[in-house]
Amino acid sequence: PLALRLVRLSKRYPAGDLALSDVSLSVPPGQVLGLIGPSGAGKSTLIRCINRLVEPTSGQVFLGPARPGSPAPDEIELSALGRRGLRRARRRIGMIFQEFALVERLTVMENVLSGRLGYVPFWRSWLRRFPPADIANAYRLLDRVGLAEHADKRADALSGGQRQRVGITRALAQEPDLLLVDEPTASLDPKTSRQIMRLLREVCAEANRADDTGRGSGPGSGRGLAAIVNIHDVALAQQFMMRIVGLRAGRIVYDGPPDGLSPEV
Ligand code: ADP
Ligand code: ADP
Repeated sequence: PLALRLVRLSKRYPAGDLALSDVSLSVPPGQVLGLIGPSGAGKSTLIRCINRLVEPTSGQVFLGPARPGSPAPDEIELSALGRRGLRRARRRIGMIFQEFALVERLTVMENVLSGRLGYVPFWRSWLRRFPPADIANAYRLLDRVGLAEHADKRADALSGGQRQRVGITRALAQEPDLLLVDEPTASLDPKTSRQIMRLLREVCAEANRADDTGRGSGPGSGRGLAAIVNIHDVALAQQFMMRIVGLRAGRIVYDGPPDGLSPEV
């Protein structure tokens, strides 16, 4: 089964040019796909059409089955869902942002658990009422990304690279089937950028390998996880992505392995 399938997706903004033109794309579980292209090529539009932060003008978006062997429906058409269905489906799509989008006054653990919850509670001591299994899972994920000892620190006490690792952990705590990652390294230095890209690749690979924990989409869950990473740094994409899709003026101009990419793409 596929994690994601785009069929002839197009987007025309009101009073604008075609930002996305007839894009078809299939992404298997475990694949970490780098979406590259110059500014204005349509990368953000493509990512936003998937979770329908932007409504596509035409075409379809299919999200794969919730887990290997899950009952029918085999896949769901995101582009056809109503409000409630869309809200449920979005829980299966983890978002990772350029500026991390953490709640700075909350702790690392609280930020991660807000991913599990799907929103940020504003009443006090919500952490105490959290299911212990979810907290244990969050610690396990934080430990995986090297942040267990920082769990009780406020998010604004961390470095940029650490904050992005919290962003990744928050998305994983949501137990997603798909990660949408928008320019994850744009506010990081080159060395930290490489660490974050490597981590993204690794957590996806690990999520597709079963171990004894048996839950979530986190490392070792054995549950499929794919990622689409919007990244304009071509060298970084080539170094860490399994597959590169190049966009130009809303069309796919390259789709293949990183080493097949010619300099003009
Ligand atoms: P990228 O992420 O590759 O830089 P975008 O998806 O942001 O590209 O933009 C693709 C095209 O769509 C550009 O021509 C941009 O100007 C246009 N565009 C993006 N967002 C909007 C919007 N909200 N309204 C109108 N045009 C938009
Ligand atoms: P505590 O005194 O334990 O810190 P609060 O006074 O913050 O708890 O909240 C009292 C109760 O109201 C809690 O059980 C909490 O679950 C509930 N509550 C507060 N705000 C909300 C909300 N926005 N949605 C749902 N439940 C809420």
